Amino acid sequence: MRITLIVAAGGSGSRFNKGLNQKRTELRRPGARVQPTKLFYALQGRPVLAETLAKFQGIAEIKEVLVAVSRNVRAQARMLVPVAGFRTVKLVPGGRTRAESVWNALRKSSPRNEWVMVHDGARPLITGRAIRKLIRSVRQSGGVLLAKKVVPTIKEIGARDKVRRTVDRKFLAEAETPQMVRRTLLLKAYRENPRAFEATDEAALLESIGKDVQAVFHEDWNPKITSVQDLEQAERFLMPQTRTRIGRGSDLHRLVEGRKFYLGGVEIPYPKGPLGHSDGDVLLHALTDAVLGVLGKGDIGDWFSDRDPRYKNIRSEKMLREVLVDAARNHWTVDYADSVIYLEEPKLGAYKKKIQERVAGILGVGPEAVSVKAKTMEKLGPVGEGLAVSCEVLVGMKKQESQLS
Ligand code: MG
Repeated sequence: MRITLIVAAGGSGSRFNKGLNQKRTELRRPGARVQPTKLFYALQGRPVLAETLAKFQGIAEIKEVLVAVSRNVRAQARMLVPVAGFRTVKLVPGGRTRAESVWNALRKSSPRNEWVMVHDGARPLITGRAIRKLIRSVRQSGGVLLAKKVVPTIKEIGARDKVRRTVDRKFLAEAETPQMVRRTLLLKAYRENPRAFEATDEAALLESIGKDVQAVFHEDWNPKITSVQDLEQAERFLMPQTRTRIGRGSDLHRLVEGRKFYLGGVEIPYPKGPLGHSDGDVLLHALTDAVLGVLGKGDIGDWFSDRDPRYKNIRSEKMLREVLVDAARNHWTVDYADSVIYLEEPKLGAYKKKIQERVAGILGVGPEAVSVKAKTMEKLGPVGEGLAVSCEVLVGMKKQESQLS
């Protein structure tokens, strides 16, 4: 399938300019005295028109792109083409109406492409998913348009605002773009309809010559940016959202003669060390459980069974790293870790900094994001009597989520 994409970007944007917020970045060529249109204001740092065009990148069926822009912004529009990631985009003059702009582009489109897809330059949130759905649907039809079911109750109003009737919304759809039609059909509609330039969309043109148009319903938010408020709303929508969670972990190991004593991956010189299937590093075990707490994926015993010979005397760092890889695959990253080690002897004062740096290194954060605190138990209980070492950890993690798929 070969498609010509026509982007209608010829409007003056008078409604937008009226509400213009002067603080917005104006991507005007220095010295050019033109009235900027909404399509050149930044959305997440990129002009609206470039953002719109970029959404069609990677749709292999699109073989040609024509953008209808008013003559006074032609130079600006030309600069956007590489920004949007396209190598070549043909610019054609915008008309007095949207339909006239589309006609100007249609006349310049290649007859080799049997389909024409028309999209509003001011709908930058269009998704690849919706575009592909439209393309799939057009094969069984001469023309398709992207549409939304109408949710609100709609009233028909008569004289003096008197409600005449309630419109049955099951027969209503809100037309969006892109719309896609067979090129020859669209040409025919323009030629046969004497008032073609007044049509508000391509579907209306096909309707005017009695051709069927299929509505393709979808759920993605695809607003037309008309006012400054719309632009700000779109900006907020695109802003990645940060989700944060706190995970908790704790651990205790018996201290016995003849074992190496690891804490936070650092070897502490001492005649005793923690008994365990692995190296018995309570800090890293508690940290691993804390991360698993954020992920909601069980505990260290579920992941690394103490009956599994593969984990015999394993360095705890390896287990923590494996869990961190899983976290990263799910877009979770460690923000900070706060730990308390309970130990009667030896005193940890001299090792705390080294432990802090080591743990920070494993987590991939700065040392300031890792806290290592040591406590004795005043000779009370198993830890106080020197029979065990224990640890508690809180870990803060964050996840960046875009609202767009
Ligand atoms: Mg343990």
